[in-house]
Amino acid sequence: MKKISILVPAYNEEEVLEALYQRLGKLANDNKSYEFEFLFVNDGSRDKTLEIIQDYAEKDQRIAYVNLSRNFGKEIAMIAGLDHVTGDATVIIDADLQDPPELIPQMIKLWEDGYDDVYAKRTSREGESWFKKASSRLYYRLLQKATHIEIQQDTGDFRLLDRRCVQALTQIRESQRYTKGMFSWIGYNKKEITYDRDQRLAGETKWNYPKLINFAIDGLTSFTTAPLRLSSLLGGVVSVAAFVYIIYLVVRTIFFGTDLAGYPSMMAVILFLGGVQLLSLGIIGEYIGRIFNETKQRPLYFVEEYHHGKTDKKTR
Ligand code: UDP
Ligand code: MG
Repeated sequence: MKKISILVPAYNEEEVLEALYQRLGKLANDNKSYEFEFLFVNDGSRDKTLEIIQDYAEKDQRIAYVNLSRNFGKEIAMIAGLDHVTGDATVIIDADLQDPPELIPQMIKLWEDGYDDVYAKRTSREGESWFKKASSRLYYRLLQKATHIEIQQDTGDFRLLDRRCVQALTQIRESQRYTKGMFSWIGYNKKEITYDRDQRLAGETKWNYPKLINFAIDGLTSFTTAPLRLSSLLGGVVSVAAFVYIIYLVVRTIFFGTDLAGYPSMMAVILFLGGVQLLSLGIIGEYIGRIFNETKQRPLYFVEEYHHGKTDKKTR
């Protein structure tokens, strides 16, 4: 019997776990031809999330969990989960039921048809502000222009991955992870399905604008060096313009003498150049920061406890 692992990163999700567990249980009951493993990654929750999961695990053999030593963020929680799943295929799903588990049978079917990565693209984004949608659209267009890897817009982490995709992803040990890009980067046979994304069932989103902006910068800097190229280009253009202006000044001084006016234009040039320099330094700094973080080669996370479900087959 083939085994499907359902990977759920969970951070302060006590309010939704019961409903999630019900829906997942129903999924397993409706698909008896597969064995299921529900792997929860408790990402340092400060509420009762861990206790609830432990409770389920005691009664239910299908439940496995990884308890991380602190909150590491969803990207790291996902790789921790991928390191521990044992299924032939793995479905990554949010705890808050924004991704309907009812789509999973359809994913499994496509997987059986030979696809390695069946990802769910959302056709609607309920409960999100106009501004969030617009900035997200703009960002993806930009990112897509800057990198040659196709990054799927409106696609979250809700997807089914064949074991070889999982193995590929676990080999990528970058600490500042942009998993969304990695899914594309590893390649393999992809298939898209669409769905309406629901609102979060209960509890609160862990995202805020500072976090989103960080995530966006991580996405850009981990998948393209185009900003570096851009800053060199900008530097080039500004230098050429400055050179032309210098010639103009010299010629003007020779033929018309000097006048002491010109304070505003001088200030404008100084401020503009200063701005361009700071911007370029900032961009270089972003990449140096990444180099710094990656050269430390720290482990991505620490596990407090790993409890594996007692299903009969251990495939990895
Ligand atoms: N999550 C996590 N660690 C974090 C933040 C979030 O494991 O530090 C999990 C969270 O429990 C949920 C998923 O990541 O299962 C998505 O989080 P959220 O619903 O807050 O994000 P959104 O749906 O708003 O993008
Ligand atoms: Mg959510």
